[in-house]
Amino acid sequence: MAENDVSTPEVLKDAQSRLQDIYERLDVSDDARQRLAHPRRSLQFSIPVRMDNGSLKVFQGWRVQYDVTRGPAKGGIRFHPNVNADEVTALSFWMAIKCAAVDLPYGGGKGGVQCNPKELSRMELERLSRGYMRAVFDVVGPDVDIPAPDVNTDATVMGWMDDEFASIARRQLPAVITGKPLGLGGSQGRVEATGEGALEVLNIWADRNKQKAKKLKVAVQGFGNAGYHFARAAADQGYNVVAVSDSQRTVYSAEGLDIDAVYNAKQQGQLKPFSSGSKNKGDTLERDAVLGLDVDILVLAALENAIDDNNAKQVSAKVILEIANGPVTSKADSKLEQAGVTVIPDVLANTGGVIVSYFEWIQNRTGDYWTAEVVNQRLRERINQQADLIFKVAKDEKVTLRTATYMQGIRRITEAMDHRGSQR
Ligand code: GLU
Repeated sequence: MAENDVSTPEVLKDAQSRLQDIYERLDVSDDARQRLAHPRRSLQFSIPVRMDNGSLKVFQGWRVQYDVTRGPAKGGIRFHPNVNADEVTALSFWMAIKCAAVDLPYGGGKGGVQCNPKELSRMELERLSRGYMRAVFDVVGPDVDIPAPDVNTDATVMGWMDDEFASIARRQLPAVITGKPLGLGGSQGRVEATGEGALEVLNIWADRNKQKAKKLKVAVQGFGNAGYHFARAAADQGYNVVAVSDSQRTVYSAEGLDIDAVYNAKQQGQLKPFSSGSKNKGDTLERDAVLGLDVDILVLAALENAIDDNNAKQVSAKVILEIANGPVTSKADSKLEQAGVTVIPDVLANTGGVIVSYFEWIQNRTGDYWTAEVVNQRLRERINQQADLIFKVAKDEKVTLRTATYMQGIRRITEAMDHRGSQR
């Protein structure tokens, strides 16, 4: 991963630069172009947190609602030391594109706190999460903006935020936030949804290209919630997952890793190619070795800018599956295209998470809760329907899957903007 790139002020510019290419292919009104060039609303705030030792620490937080034309803003909240206004804005822009690309009735939003959650105690993390909700209380709501988990936030954090919202509002309103624990109105399948949804997209690609899972070697950069669930489900379906990496190291085994053994080792402190008692053999490599391995599919499930101009040439895989948001810079994207690498883009590949968030929001609003089977079936249905349309655009227009996905998303957003009229 390119060191610290996430903190450069280039992420948003890079994200928006992809629009130029789309505007050359789609008829988009000047009004809509202007609207899309700026976030609708950005909020920056301080979150004072009483630390366990009695001292006060003030954290910086953000919530950006990039676009709300097709519905309320939607998107996760990230806790990470490199979070900044530029990054959150870029992430909210990608949310708008991806929600529209899979036809969810949402705009795009994102939030974040600049912090290192690994250095916070559980109580400090709870106070920070509650502080975040107090800061955004006035700008969120089931019809306004609906946060969710992202990097380093999970169902527990969503549960605290939901509870904080309920205690300020003095009523339960679970549809204000998604990715909650099951007992607080969370949905079956939400935790696995991003990783398993990405696998569904990979299967669609494999089917269309007559590739068999068993013949495909896969390396996964990033072993958080999405990376782990992808790797586990992919190995279950017969893909040969030979490597996974985290922020410290890569583990590799030519015969394929035992993903649950690797996961258990990480839970106990460190990523290892096998846990004691496991038959698997393997090697530990340096962190970025995962990017250049001789595999068929490289899965990027860590952070943005993992592949940039400098390291794009290291990639030897013929297919990249983007589960993280923005893991390939636009310059690297062009280089990969020239080198004949197919990129299955974030704005399609990682939509499983927000699709099941949408299902959770529906369940909260109707009070009718679905089984895991129903959730999974509806997730697969939506991904297949929308991916079919996107693959068709790619074929008809002779463009990359990223351009096709952006075309679908931008077409829907800008048509909605035009329908809203010119006076708003
Ligand atoms: N953080 C996830 C994403 O980037 C999920 C967002 C959501 O569920 O609203 O897509």
